[in-house]
Amino acid sequence: MTERIYYTDSIRTDFEALVVGVEPSGSRTIVELDRTAFYPTSGGQPHDTGTLGGARVVDVRELDAVRIGHVIDGRLSMHQVVTGAVDWPRRFDHMQQHSGQHVLSAAFERRHDARTVGFHLGQVSSTIDLDRDLPVEVVAQVELDANELVWRNRLVRTRFATAEEAAALPLRKEPLRPGTLRLIEIDEADLSACGGTHVDRTGTIGLIAVTATERFKGGLRVSFLCGRRVLEGFRVRKVTLAASARLLSVGESDLPDQIARLQGDAKDWQRALRLAQARLRVYEATALAANAETMGSWSSIVAAVEVLEPGALKMLVATLIAEPGRVAVLFSSETPALVVVARSADVGLDARTVLGRLTERFGGRGGGKSDLAQGGGLTGASAELQDAARTILEEC
Ligand SMILES: [Zn+2]
Repeated sequence: MTERIYYTDSIRTDFEALVVGVEPSGSRTIVELDRTAFYPTSGGQPHDTGTLGGARVVDVRELDAVRIGHVIDGRLSMHQVVTGAVDWPRRFDHMQQHSGQHVLSAAFERRHDARTVGFHLGQVSSTIDLDRDLPVEVVAQVELDANELVWRNRLVRTRFATAEEAAALPLRKEPLRPGTLRLIEIDEADLSACGGTHVDRTGTIGLIAVTATERFKGGLRVSFLCGRRVLEGFRVRKVTLAASARLLSVGESDLPDQIARLQGDAKDWQRALRLAQARLRVYEATALAANAETMGSWSSIVAAVEVLEPGALKMLVATLIAEPGRVAVLFSSETPALVVVARSADVGLDARTVLGRLTERFGGRGGGKSDLAQGGGLTGASAELQDAARTILEEC
Protein backbone atom coordinates (compact mmCIF):
# COMPACT_ATOMS: atom_id res chain seq x y z
CA MET A 1 0.00 0.00 0.00
CA THR A 2 1.39 3.41 -0.96
CA GLU A 3 0.91 6.24 1.54
CA ARG A 4 -0.36 9.25 -0.42
CA ILE A 5 1.39 12.36 0.91
CA TYR A 6 -0.69 14.61 -1.37
CA TYR A 7 -3.87 13.43 0.37
CA THR A 8 -3.07 15.66 3.35
CA ASP A 9 -0.43 17.97 1.87
CA SER A 10 -1.03 19.25 -1.67
CA ILE A 11 1.86 21.73 -1.68
CA ARG A 12 4.58 19.27 -0.63
CA THR A 13 6.86 18.61 -3.61
CA ASP A 14 10.02 17.12 -2.04
CA PHE A 15 10.04 13.85 -0.10
CA GLU A 16 12.05 10.77 0.73
CA ALA A 17 10.73 7.27 0.33
CA LEU A 18 11.72 3.63 0.26
CA VAL A 19 11.60 1.64 -2.98
CA VAL A 20 9.34 -1.35 -2.29
CA GLY A 21 8.83 -2.60 -5.86
CA VAL A 22 10.68 -2.42 -9.19
CA GLU A 23 9.54 -3.78 -12.52
CA PRO A 24 11.71 -3.08 -15.61
CA SER A 25 9.70 -2.07 -18.69
CA GLY A 26 12.02 -1.59 -21.70
CA SER A 27 14.36 1.32 -20.96
CA ARG A 28 11.99 2.40 -18.21
CA THR A 29 11.17 1.07 -14.75
CA ILE A 30 7.88 1.00 -12.88
CA VAL A 31 8.78 1.90 -9.29
CA GLU A 32 6.61 1.42 -6.23
CA LEU A 33 7.36 3.43 -3.07
CA ASP A 34 6.20 3.14 0.54
CA ARG A 35 4.97 6.77 0.30
CA THR A 36 4.66 9.33 -2.48
CA ALA A 37 3.82 12.95 -3.21
CA PHE A 38 3.23 12.07 -6.90
CA TYR A 39 -0.40 12.17 -8.00
CA PRO A 40 -1.41 9.25 -10.27
CA THR A 41 -3.76 9.80 -13.24
CA SER A 42 -7.27 9.30 -11.80
CA GLY A 43 -10.61 11.01 -11.33
CA GLY A 44 -10.19 13.13 -14.47
CA GLN A 45 -6.89 14.67 -13.26
CA PRO A 46 -3.61 13.81 -15.06
CA HIS A 47 -0.53 12.57 -13.20
CA ASP A 48 2.29 14.68 -11.83
CA THR A 49 5.75 14.75 -13.37
CA GLY A 50 9.13 15.32 -11.70
CA THR A 51 12.17 13.28 -10.68
CA LEU A 52 12.74 10.21 -8.56
CA GLY A 53 16.29 9.36 -7.51
CA GLY A 54 17.44 11.76 -10.25
CA ALA A 55 15.48 9.93 -12.98
CA ARG A 56 12.60 11.58 -14.89
CA VAL A 57 9.11 10.52 -13.81
CA VAL A 58 7.18 10.28 -17.09
CA ASP A 59 3.97 8.66 -15.84
CA VAL A 60 2.29 7.88 -12.53
CA ARG A 61 -0.53 5.36 -12.43
CA GLU A 62 -2.62 3.38 -10.00
CA LEU A 63 -1.47 -0.25 -10.07
CA ASP A 64 -4.56 -1.22 -8.08
CA ALA A 65 -6.81 0.46 -5.48
CA VAL A 66 -3.97 0.88 -2.96
CA ARG A 67 -0.67 0.87 -4.90
CA ILE A 68 0.87 3.60 -7.08
CA GLY A 69 3.41 2.95 -9.87
CA HIS A 70 5.94 5.59 -10.97
CA VAL A 71 7.22 5.10 -14.53
CA ILE A 72 10.78 6.45 -14.64
CA ASP A 73 13.34 6.86 -17.42
CA GLY A 74 16.09 4.83 -15.75
CA ARG A 75 16.69 2.23 -13.08
CA LEU A 76 16.31 2.11 -9.28
CA SER A 77 17.04 -0.75 -6.86
CA MET A 78 14.80 -2.49 -4.37
CA HIS A 79 15.03 -1.18 -0.75
CA GLN A 80 16.86 1.96 -1.89
CA VAL A 81 15.93 5.24 -0.17
CA VAL A 82 15.23 7.82 -2.87
CA THR A 83 14.43 11.52 -3.06
CA GLY A 84 11.40 12.54 -5.06
CA ALA A 85 10.64 16.02 -6.46
CA VAL A 86 7.30 16.90 -8.02
CA ASP A 87 7.26 19.58 -10.80
CA TRP A 88 5.50 22.43 -9.00
CA PRO A 89 4.18 24.52 -11.98
CA ARG A 90 2.30 21.48 -13.35
CA ARG A 91 1.03 20.44 -9.88
CA PHE A 92 -0.14 24.00 -9.09
CA ASP A 93 -1.86 24.29 -12.48
CA HIS A 94 -3.75 21.05 -11.80
CA MET A 95 -4.72 22.31 -8.31
CA GLN A 96 -6.17 25.50 -9.81
CA GLN A 97 -8.09 23.62 -12.50
CA HIS A 98 -9.40 20.86 -10.22
CA SER A 99 -10.47 23.14 -7.34
CA GLY A 100 -12.03 25.48 -9.92
CA GLN A 101 -13.99 22.51 -11.23
CA HIS A 102 -15.40 21.76 -7.75
CA VAL A 103 -16.50 25.41 -7.39
CA LEU A 104 -18.06 25.49 -10.87
CA SER A 105 -19.81 22.11 -10.45
CA ALA A 106 -21.16 23.20 -7.05
CA ALA A 107 -22.51 26.44 -8.55
CA PHE A 108 -24.30 24.57 -11.36
CA GLU A 109 -25.85 22.16 -8.88
CA ARG A 110 -26.82 24.78 -6.28
CA ARG A 111 -28.43 27.21 -8.74
CA HIS A 112 -29.93 24.90 -11.36
CA ASP A 113 -29.82 21.36 -9.97
CA ALA A 114 -27.50 20.43 -12.86
CA ARG A 115 -25.30 17.54 -11.73
CA THR A 116 -21.75 17.01 -12.95
CA VAL A 117 -21.49 13.50 -14.44
CA GLY A 118 -18.04 13.83 -16.04
CA PHE A 119 -14.80 15.78 -15.57
CA HIS A 120 -11.69 15.94 -17.72
CA LEU A 121 -8.66 18.09 -16.92
CA GLY A 122 -7.02 18.63 -20.31
CA GLN A 123 -3.65 20.00 -21.41
CA VAL A 124 -5.25 23.15 -22.80
CA SER A 125 -8.69 23.38 -21.25
CA SER A 126 -10.91 21.29 -19.00
CA THR A 127 -14.50 20.13 -19.32
CA ILE A 128 -17.37 19.13 -17.09
CA ASP A 129 -20.39 17.26 -18.39
CA LEU A 130 -23.72 18.31 -16.88
CA ASP A 131 -26.74 16.00 -16.87
CA ARG A 132 -28.96 18.72 -18.35
CA ASP A 133 -28.81 21.39 -21.01
CA LEU A 134 -28.82 25.05 -19.94
CA PRO A 135 -29.08 28.28 -21.97
CA VAL A 136 -25.96 30.44 -22.41
CA GLU A 137 -27.31 33.25 -20.17
CA VAL A 138 -27.73 30.77 -17.33
CA VAL A 139 -24.19 29.45 -17.85
CA ALA A 140 -22.90 33.06 -17.72
CA GLN A 141 -24.75 33.65 -14.42
CA VAL A 142 -23.33 30.44 -12.91
CA GLU A 143 -19.84 31.47 -14.09
CA LEU A 144 -20.25 34.74 -12.17
CA ASP A 145 -21.58 32.91 -9.06
CA ALA A 146 -18.58 30.57 -9.15
CA ASN A 147 -16.15 33.50 -9.37
CA GLU A 148 -17.85 35.25 -6.47
CA LEU A 149 -17.19 32.14 -4.39
CA VAL A 150 -13.54 32.26 -5.52
CA TRP A 151 -13.26 35.90 -4.46
CA ARG A 152 -14.81 35.19 -1.04
CA ASN A 153 -11.63 33.16 -0.45
CA ARG A 154 -13.36 30.26 1.32
CA LEU A 155 -11.36 27.61 3.15
CA VAL A 156 -10.90 24.29 1.34
CA ARG A 157 -10.42 21.40 3.78
CA THR A 158 -9.62 17.73 3.45
CA ARG A 159 -11.57 15.31 5.68
CA PHE A 160 -11.70 11.57 5.96
CA ALA A 161 -14.82 9.54 6.66
CA THR A 162 -15.91 5.92 6.81
CA ALA A 163 -18.50 4.73 4.29
CA GLU A 164 -21.19 4.84 7.05
CA GLU A 165 -20.27 8.41 8.05
CA ALA A 166 -20.20 9.49 4.39
CA ALA A 167 -23.65 7.98 3.76
CA ALA A 168 -25.12 10.49 6.24
CA LEU A 169 -23.37 13.48 4.62
CA PRO A 170 -24.80 15.67 1.84
CA LEU A 171 -22.12 14.72 -0.72
CA ARG A 172 -22.32 16.43 -4.14
CA LYS A 173 -20.38 13.58 -5.75
CA GLU A 174 -20.94 9.97 -4.71
CA PRO A 175 -17.76 8.13 -3.70
CA LEU A 176 -16.29 5.71 -6.24
CA ARG A 177 -13.87 4.01 -3.84
CA PRO A 178 -14.63 1.53 -1.06
CA GLY A 179 -13.28 1.94 2.47
CA THR A 180 -12.19 5.22 4.09
CA LEU A 181 -13.19 8.19 1.97
CA ARG A 182 -11.33 11.40 1.34
CA LEU A 183 -13.67 14.37 1.23
CA ILE A 184 -12.96 17.85 -0.10
CA GLU A 185 -15.00 20.52 1.64
CA ILE A 186 -15.31 24.10 0.47
CA ASP A 187 -16.58 26.05 3.45
CA GLU A 188 -20.41 26.37 3.30
CA ALA A 189 -20.35 25.65 -0.44
CA ASP A 190 -19.42 22.11 -1.38
CA LEU A 191 -18.62 18.66 -0.03
CA SER A 192 -17.56 15.86 -2.34
CA ALA A 193 -15.52 12.67 -2.32
CA CYS A 194 -12.34 13.29 -4.29
CA GLY A 195 -8.74 12.09 -4.43
CA GLY A 196 -7.37 15.12 -6.30
CA THR A 197 -4.89 17.82 -5.34
CA HIS A 198 -6.54 21.06 -4.23
CA VAL A 199 -5.80 24.63 -3.17
CA ASP A 200 -6.35 25.50 0.51
CA ARG A 201 -8.43 28.60 -0.16
CA THR A 202 -10.71 29.34 -3.12
CA GLY A 203 -8.90 32.67 -3.76
CA THR A 204 -5.89 30.68 -5.01
CA ILE A 205 -8.00 29.51 -7.98
CA GLY A 206 -7.75 33.11 -9.21
CA LEU A 207 -10.48 33.17 -11.82
CA ILE A 208 -12.82 30.73 -13.59
CA ALA A 209 -13.71 31.39 -17.24
CA VAL A 210 -16.16 29.32 -19.30
CA THR A 211 -14.76 29.22 -22.84
CA ALA A 212 -17.38 27.13 -24.67
CA THR A 213 -20.48 24.98 -24.26
CA GLU A 214 -21.87 22.24 -26.45
CA ARG A 215 -24.75 19.79 -26.19
CA PHE A 216 -23.44 16.39 -25.14
CA LYS A 217 -25.37 13.14 -24.51
CA GLY A 218 -28.60 14.95 -23.66
CA GLY A 219 -26.77 17.32 -21.29
CA LEU A 220 -24.20 20.07 -21.62
CA ARG A 221 -20.41 19.93 -21.94
CA VAL A 222 -18.85 23.06 -20.42
CA SER A 223 -15.23 23.94 -21.29
CA PHE A 224 -13.43 26.19 -18.84
CA LEU A 225 -10.08 27.61 -17.74
CA CYS A 226 -8.92 28.50 -14.24
CA GLY A 227 -6.16 30.63 -12.73
CA ARG A 228 -3.01 31.14 -14.79
CA ARG A 229 -4.66 29.54 -17.83
CA VAL A 230 -7.24 32.38 -17.90
CA LEU A 231 -4.42 34.93 -18.07
CA GLU A 232 -2.61 32.96 -20.78
CA GLY A 233 -5.87 32.59 -22.76
CA PHE A 234 -6.55 36.33 -22.34
CA ARG A 235 -3.08 37.18 -23.67
CA VAL A 236 -3.49 34.95 -26.74
CA ARG A 237 -6.88 36.51 -27.50
CA LYS A 238 -5.50 40.02 -26.92
CA VAL A 239 -2.68 39.51 -29.46
CA THR A 240 -5.03 37.86 -31.98
CA LEU A 241 -7.66 40.60 -31.66
CA ALA A 242 -5.12 43.43 -31.88
CA ALA A 243 -3.48 41.91 -34.99
CA SER A 244 -6.89 41.38 -36.64
CA ALA A 245 -8.03 44.93 -35.83
CA ARG A 246 -4.75 46.33 -37.22
CA LEU A 247 -5.14 44.35 -40.46
CA LEU A 248 -8.65 45.70 -40.98
CA SER A 249 -7.88 49.19 -39.62
CA VAL A 250 -10.82 49.18 -37.20
CA GLY A 251 -11.33 49.10 -33.44
CA GLU A 252 -11.59 45.62 -31.86
CA SER A 253 -15.31 46.02 -31.15
CA ASP A 254 -15.94 46.82 -34.84
CA LEU A 255 -14.31 43.56 -36.03
CA PRO A 256 -17.52 41.50 -36.53
CA ASP A 257 -19.23 44.28 -38.54
CA GLN A 258 -16.11 44.86 -40.63
CA ILE A 259 -15.69 41.13 -41.38
CA ALA A 260 -19.38 40.89 -42.39
CA ARG A 261 -18.87 43.89 -44.70
CA LEU A 262 -15.78 42.32 -46.31
CA GLN A 263 -17.61 39.02 -46.80
CA GLY A 264 -20.44 40.93 -48.54
CA ASP A 265 -17.87 42.70 -50.76
CA ALA A 266 -16.19 39.39 -51.63
CA LYS A 267 -19.55 37.96 -52.75
CA ASP A 268 -20.14 41.00 -55.00
CA TRP A 269 -16.66 40.67 -56.51
CA GLN A 270 -17.18 36.97 -57.15
CA ARG A 271 -20.46 37.67 -58.91
CA ALA A 272 -18.82 40.40 -61.05
CA LEU A 273 -15.87 38.12 -61.84
CA ARG A 274 -18.13 35.25 -62.94
CA LEU A 275 -20.01 37.62 -65.23
CA ALA A 276 -16.76 38.98 -66.73
CA GLN A 277 -15.43 35.44 -67.24
CA ALA A 278 -18.64 34.41 -69.03
CA ARG A 279 -18.33 37.43 -71.35
CA LEU A 280 -14.66 36.71 -71.96
CA ARG A 281 -15.53 33.13 -72.94
CA VAL A 282 -17.79 34.43 -75.69
CA TYR A 283 -14.85 36.43 -77.13
CA GLU A 284 -12.46 33.49 -76.78
CA ALA A 285 -14.99 31.19 -78.48
CA THR A 286 -15.41 33.66 -81.35
CA ALA A 287 -11.61 33.89 -81.81
CA LEU A 288 -11.24 30.10 -81.75
CA ALA A 289 -14.17 29.57 -84.15
CA ALA A 290 -12.52 31.96 -86.63
CA ASN A 291 -9.73 29.37 -87.07
CA ALA A 292 -12.09 26.39 -87.49
CA GLU A 293 -11.11 23.88 -90.18
CA THR A 294 -13.80 22.41 -92.38
CA MET A 295 -13.94 18.61 -92.36
CA GLY A 296 -16.69 17.37 -94.64
CA SER A 297 -20.07 18.21 -93.12
CA TRP A 298 -18.63 19.76 -89.91
CA SER A 299 -15.84 22.03 -88.82
CA SER A 300 -13.19 21.27 -86.20
CA ILE A 301 -11.66 23.56 -83.61
CA VAL A 302 -8.41 22.29 -82.08
CA ALA A 303 -6.47 24.56 -79.73
CA ALA A 304 -4.60 24.91 -76.44
CA VAL A 305 -5.85 27.55 -74.03
CA GLU A 306 -4.63 28.93 -70.75
CA VAL A 307 -6.87 27.69 -67.94
CA LEU A 308 -7.44 30.42 -65.33
CA GLU A 309 -10.26 28.78 -63.31
CA PRO A 310 -11.46 25.22 -62.68
CA GLY A 311 -13.96 24.03 -65.29
CA ALA A 312 -12.95 26.83 -67.73
CA LEU A 313 -12.09 24.41 -70.54
CA LYS A 314 -15.44 22.66 -70.33
CA MET A 315 -17.39 25.93 -70.24
CA LEU A 316 -15.48 27.26 -73.26
CA VAL A 317 -16.18 24.03 -75.15
CA ALA A 318 -19.86 24.26 -74.23
CA THR A 319 -19.96 27.77 -75.72
CA LEU A 320 -18.29 26.51 -78.94
CA ILE A 321 -20.58 23.52 -79.55
CA ALA A 322 -23.72 25.50 -78.83
CA GLU A 323 -23.48 26.30 -82.58
CA PRO A 324 -24.39 23.40 -84.93
CA GLY A 325 -21.84 21.49 -87.02
CA ARG A 326 -18.82 21.75 -84.73
CA VAL A 327 -16.29 19.43 -83.09
CA ALA A 328 -13.95 20.97 -80.52
CA VAL A 329 -10.81 19.51 -78.95
CA LEU A 330 -9.34 21.90 -76.37
CA PHE A 331 -6.19 21.25 -74.37
CA SER A 332 -4.96 23.20 -71.39
CA SER A 333 -1.62 24.88 -72.11
CA GLU A 334 0.20 23.31 -69.14
CA THR A 335 1.94 19.90 -68.99
CA PRO A 336 0.56 17.37 -68.26
CA ALA A 337 -2.45 18.69 -70.15
CA LEU A 338 -6.19 18.53 -69.56
CA VAL A 339 -8.36 17.86 -72.60
CA VAL A 340 -12.05 18.22 -73.44
CA VAL A 341 -13.50 16.69 -76.61
CA ALA A 342 -17.07 17.68 -77.56
CA ARG A 343 -19.37 17.91 -80.56
CA SER A 344 -22.56 19.75 -81.50
CA ALA A 345 -25.79 17.76 -81.20
CA ASP A 346 -26.08 17.34 -85.00
CA VAL A 347 -22.61 15.77 -85.49
CA GLY A 348 -22.38 12.00 -85.51
CA LEU A 349 -18.98 11.53 -83.87
CA ASP A 350 -18.16 9.78 -80.57
CA ALA A 351 -16.09 12.10 -78.37
CA ARG A 352 -14.95 9.10 -76.27
CA THR A 353 -13.25 7.53 -79.33
CA VAL A 354 -11.20 10.69 -79.92
CA LEU A 355 -10.29 10.94 -76.21
CA GLY A 356 -9.39 7.22 -76.09
CA ARG A 357 -6.97 7.55 -79.00
CA LEU A 358 -5.35 10.63 -77.44
CA THR A 359 -4.79 8.97 -74.02
CA GLU A 360 -3.57 5.81 -75.78
CA ARG A 361 -0.78 7.83 -77.31
CA PHE A 362 -0.05 10.51 -74.69
CA GLY A 363 -1.00 8.74 -71.47
CA GLY A 364 -3.43 10.06 -68.86
CA ARG A 365 -7.02 9.01 -68.39
CA GLY A 366 -10.57 10.21 -68.73
CA GLY A 367 -14.12 9.41 -69.79
CA GLY A 368 -17.50 10.87 -70.58
CA LYS A 369 -20.39 10.55 -73.00
CA SER A 370 -20.55 10.41 -76.80
CA ASP A 371 -21.12 14.18 -77.07
CA LEU A 372 -18.57 15.28 -74.45
CA ALA A 373 -15.56 13.53 -72.93
CA GLN A 374 -12.78 14.90 -70.81
CA GLY A 375 -9.43 13.71 -69.53
CA GLY A 376 -6.18 14.75 -67.94
CA GLY A 377 -2.56 13.76 -67.47
CA LEU A 378 -1.63 13.87 -71.17
CA THR A 379 2.12 14.25 -71.59
CA GLY A 380 3.41 15.83 -74.79
CA ALA A 381 4.31 19.15 -76.38
CA SER A 382 1.25 21.29 -77.01
CA ALA A 383 1.80 21.42 -80.80
CA GLU A 384 2.22 17.63 -80.88
CA LEU A 385 -1.06 17.11 -78.98
CA GLN A 386 -2.94 19.42 -81.35
CA ASP A 387 -1.47 17.82 -84.48
CA ALA A 388 -2.44 14.38 -83.21
CA ALA A 389 -6.00 15.57 -82.48
CA ARG A 390 -6.32 16.94 -86.06
CA THR A 391 -5.12 13.67 -87.54
CA ILE A 392 -7.53 11.64 -85.38
CA LEU A 393 -10.44 13.90 -86.42
CA GLU A 394 -9.54 13.51 -90.10
CA GLU A 395 -9.63 9.73 -89.68
CA CYS A 396 -13.00 9.73 -87.89
ZN1 LIG B 1 -12.44 16.34 -7.56
